[in-house]
Amino acid sequence: MAAGEKKRIVFLGPPNSGKGTQAVTLAQRLGIPAISTGEMLRAAVTSGSDLGTRVRSVMASGQLVDDTLISEVLEDRIGSSDAHDGYLLDGYPRTAPQADTLARILARRGETLDHVVLIDAPTEVLARRALLRGREDDREDVVRERLEVYQAQTAPLVERYEAEGLLRRVDGDRTIEEVGRSVLAAVGGEV
Ligand code: AMP
Repeated sequence: MAAGEKKRIVFLGPPNSGKGTQAVTLAQRLGIPAISTGEMLRAAVTSGSDLGTRVRSVMASGQLVDDTLISEVLEDRIGSSDAHDGYLLDGYPRTAPQADTLARILARRGETLDHVVLIDAPTEVLARRALLRGREDDREDVVRERLEVYQAQTAPLVERYEAEGLLRRVDGDRTIEEVGRSVLAAVGGEV
């Protein structure tokens, strides 16, 4: 892609699909910030801020944080100067109302999305990876809950972005390097 061309990209995918890892790598390569709402919330919990106190137990249970609350966090972050010309969203939107909010934020800023990258892998692979990773919300029952929440609330967004012609599917059941090459190709980068 042309040097200096900034993009607005959304990463979609179930927990443990590897999208966080790929998001950081791609964003670095494109010179745009990787904005992970999950990371922002974990940082808030660690710092013991007001926000952290409010979201801690919801996160630990594998449920989603309230749409209005997370949308405020996101809108605030997108308003920072480093996101002026482009950004990669990892973990937002996760529900239909969040996708509506993102569409409103974009319209207000006179912007459009360039790509929605879906990284997917079979459920057994996701569950196995969760046990290896060992994050606080990677306990077996919480993993199952997070997968169910993804299927019920986030997976429907795939159709929506497919209908908008933005969806790029990437098989996440391969090595990090292989997935990375496909992700780059999916957003029109040179592999
Ligand atoms: P993640 O790191 O993206 O897997 O997110 C970890 C947890 O943070 C999720 O299980 C949710 O509890 C919460 N979270 C992150 N992003 C969102 C979002 N966009 N909407 C609601 N909850 C979120």
